[in-house]
Amino acid sequence: MIRINELSLPLDHSDDALRRAIVKRLNIRDADLLDVTVFKRSYDARKKNSAIVFIYIVDLEVRDEGKVLARFANDLHVRPAPDTRYYPVAEAPANLEARPLVIGFGPCGLFAALLLAQMGFRPIVLERGKNVRSRTKDTWALWRKKVLSPESNVQFGEGGAGLFSDGKLYSQIKDPKFYARKVMHEFVRAGAPEEIMYVNKPHIGTFRLTGVVAKMREEIIALGGEVRFESRVTDLLIDNGQVEGVVLANGDTLHSRHVILALGHSSRDTFRMLHRQGVHIEAKPFAIGFRIEHPQGMIDKARLGKYAGHPALGAADYKLVHHAKNGRAVYSFCMCPGGTVVAATSEPGRVVTNGMSQYSRNERNANSGIVVGINPEQDFPGDALAGVELQERLEERAYELGGSDYCAPAQLVGDFIRGVPSSEFGEVEPSYTPGVRLGDLSPSLPAFAIDAIREALPAFGRKIRGFDRDNAILTGIETRTSSPVRITRHHDTLQSLNTRGLYPAGEGAGYAGGILSAGVDGIKVAEALAKALLSDMDAA
Ligand code: FAD
Repeated sequence: MIRINELSLPLDHSDDALRRAIVKRLNIRDADLLDVTVFKRSYDARKKNSAIVFIYIVDLEVRDEGKVLARFANDLHVRPAPDTRYYPVAEAPANLEARPLVIGFGPCGLFAALLLAQMGFRPIVLERGKNVRSRTKDTWALWRKKVLSPESNVQFGEGGAGLFSDGKLYSQIKDPKFYARKVMHEFVRAGAPEEIMYVNKPHIGTFRLTGVVAKMREEIIALGGEVRFESRVTDLLIDNGQVEGVVLANGDTLHSRHVILALGHSSRDTFRMLHRQGVHIEAKPFAIGFRIEHPQGMIDKARLGKYAGHPALGAADYKLVHHAKNGRAVYSFCMCPGGTVVAATSEPGRVVTNGMSQYSRNERNANSGIVVGINPEQDFPGDALAGVELQERLEERAYELGGSDYCAPAQLVGDFIRGVPSSEFGEVEPSYTPGVRLGDLSPSLPAFAIDAIREALPAFGRKIRGFDRDNAILTGIETRTSSPVRITRHHDTLQSLNTRGLYPAGEGAGYAGGILSAGVDGIKVAEALAKALLSDMDAA
């Protein structure tokens, strides 16, 4: 296979234009181009008012590949294509007795379990929440009727925190083994749109993701695995530094010396249990802030100029950073084009926001987190759980400022910058349900964070015209941007620093920051576990 990088074509090119461009670029006959696979398609919007172009990376089969490559030996954009297929690292023996446990069925646990199942290890998944169907009902009960189910919500249940999300599937992780391709490939096999394999910033959207996750669960079960919902792990059995099993909330005990811990960032009771048990945990940096909403049309115009609304480009996104005078970095986080701000608490008496969208991304508003990085040394000194405690305090205050009924506190951007409370909406209507309460957001976060955001918004307005418009809406608060703890592991065995057989993984353990990276981490720990389990069997 040959790979060509940086093949650019006009936005409105015809279906056969790509093939013609390849034939021309390689100077071969059309009949000698045997197969074309688009590996990646992005667009270059730097010339948004003259010509936005698509940039392709394509993998090709051609006749006489060696000769073609020899002709392009000095051309960095025409190279042999890397092999991006996934090869399993282990196969379970038929006499396998020791079944691995996977705690948590978010993207990390899902991929860990799927990989283990595909290698024949028949994992048992323990998930505290419910299956996608029941969970969807419970989550909507908070959004529509202000009824929270602490064990079945945006954070907990089949599919994990990423289920009701924008379903953005990109990440900046280093991925020399192409695990992200494996994640995408499995999503497509389970019903995700084929284009996620090649578009530059793929996304699935909430409703498609629910079907995909349920299908993947069926495959795990068909391969001999088990998925147990409403099975909260409340304790670990540890003997002499080796994990020996888990205890569930209903009192059941399951024995295993190989346990993947894919908890997500919101399982605070489980973090406390691990800390009590002496599993190595440390506090880590995260970020706090608000969600901001603007009309999507305004963002499209700023980003895509005369191409705003072009069907091939979809709703535009943005990424912004500002280094404030007080030394704090303020940045946009989890931007959701054409989406909604959602209530994302998993605990009674607390309010926290996040964002989601459907595949079509055609809601009126664009939203993103505008957040300030914080770190343990400066902002929450104390023990490993000090960040968790800070989140809890801030989320409680947000609940009170919102009126103590799961509505969120909100303020117009202009009023926030001027430091006056808001009392009336302008043109931008907030999308958060069950609703917002207008007022003053400044008591909701520490003063340094308020100052930094106040300074950043006008700076962002200089990058995206209208970003700091008076009637844009800020909804509070964003605290669960990433895990406040790291459950540290050895970099080679991927087992906990001080608990053998325990594989901390995914976002909750501090090893991922999104759906794709959590899925990739799930693959990594599944491989490490499979190899260790086989070597234990050899040694026995
Ligand atoms: P999680 O998805 O959090 O899964 C952890 C699972 O473990 C949960 O299902 C939980 O119930 C279970 N669990 C926890 N404790 C226990 C226990 N003691 N016993 C049994 N089970 C337990 N990321 C993106 O990349 N793109 C997006 O567009 C995006 N949008 C988001 C929108 C929202 C509203 C939210 C909340 C998050 C979004 N994210 C997005 C972040 C993304 O969802 C997470 O990064 C990702 O889900 C982390 O995966 P994970 O498997 O590590 O943890």
